[in-house]
Amino acid sequence: MLAARMSRIASSPTMKGTVAAENLRKQGFDVVDLGAGEPDFPTPEHVKQAGKRAIDANFTKYTANTGTSELKQAIIARYRADYGVDYAENQVIVTAGGKQSLANSILALFGPGDEVITHAPGWPTIPEQIKLAEATPVIVHAHAENGFTLTADLFLNAVTPRTKGIVINSPANPTGALISEDELTKIAKFAAGKNIWVLIDLCYEKLIYEPVPHNLPGVLQRELRDRSVVSGSASKAYAMTGWRCGWTIGPKEVIAACGALQSHQTSNACSITQRAVVAALNGPQECVAEMLEEYRNRRDHVLAWLTADPRIKCLSPAGAFYLFLDITELLSPNGVRTSAEFSERLINESYVVTTPGEAFDAPGFIRISYANSLENLKTACDRIAAFVKTLDQTVSA
Ligand code: PMP
Repeated sequence: MLAARMSRIASSPTMKGTVAAENLRKQGFDVVDLGAGEPDFPTPEHVKQAGKRAIDANFTKYTANTGTSELKQAIIARYRADYGVDYAENQVIVTAGGKQSLANSILALFGPGDEVITHAPGWPTIPEQIKLAEATPVIVHAHAENGFTLTADLFLNAVTPRTKGIVINSPANPTGALISEDELTKIAKFAAGKNIWVLIDLCYEKLIYEPVPHNLPGVLQRELRDRSVVSGSASKAYAMTGWRCGWTIGPKEVIAACGALQSHQTSNACSITQRAVVAALNGPQECVAEMLEEYRNRRDHVLAWLTADPRIKCLSPAGAFYLFLDITELLSPNGVRTSAEFSERLINESYVVTTPGEAFDAPGFIRISYANSLENLKTACDRIAAFVKTLDQTVSA
């Protein structure tokens, strides 16, 4: 009955936990949700004020399909200040979130017969978007032993004559792992002169804990200017998930194609949001640094609390706000058999929402988001420890 393309994709598995949590909450249970991939902080005050001023000034009409010139200039200025790169306005398009930025670029660049390499454990939307473009996702697997670090070899070993693109998310969801500038340089040098595009998803670019070099836009501008695309987002950096604003930066032909697609799909990102994001990008960046410090504190605490049980394994992630925990030692054929089952029982019996590794093509793991108050995180960790204890008792009984 539905179009054939719908049989190729599944709806986002990372949203399932949130729905289960909502149902339990309605029944009066005290649920701690570590499933959601969004900041718990409110949008910074000066950003909210800019949104309110936009409404009061009746800035509530259509804008240019590709975004206001003011916001494009703010994006260009931000990347110049952060990375020393220079772009023109016709190399930038404003989108309704990083998700639309990636969807546009993938549809604009890839089609039937093309292979597009991306990584697991990884954010499930990217392979689904590749399938929607009728191209073939080729998934390469990063390894827990080295903190899921993304290396050039991982991607380059999967290249075939049909490879048309490589999509890299750094810092990565769900692992928090990075690709280094050197590794991306190797990939870019390899792709140069070939018909291979490199797309980077920088959705978590502001959430890197150590001052490691991560100037990926600089690498791409230097090595692969004509065949690379950068996706960014206001969602995580400025606690603006609900406002829906992202952007794509790339060669002007690609941006024009993304604009044509967007003009027939959603048209411009919300006008009010665009004004607020100008304030976020041009305004003081201390709010970003403050949130990062708080996330770091939570990361360190939660990691210590959970890995107090040596069967729960995780290296300290370099970025984002997730822990991707190896729980294989807690699984057994006559106890909890899979991470999906572990996650489901944890919701139903202990009211803690996590996302099973199956959602990220990595069974045996669970993802927890530490974008939550330290108090809630402590409650959740205590409940997880108690849950594991009941499992030990059932298995040994
Ligand atoms: N990339 C990754 C890796 C993400 O995890 C997300 C959101 N979960 C996005 C992009 C897109 O976020 P948004 O559409 O809110 O910008």
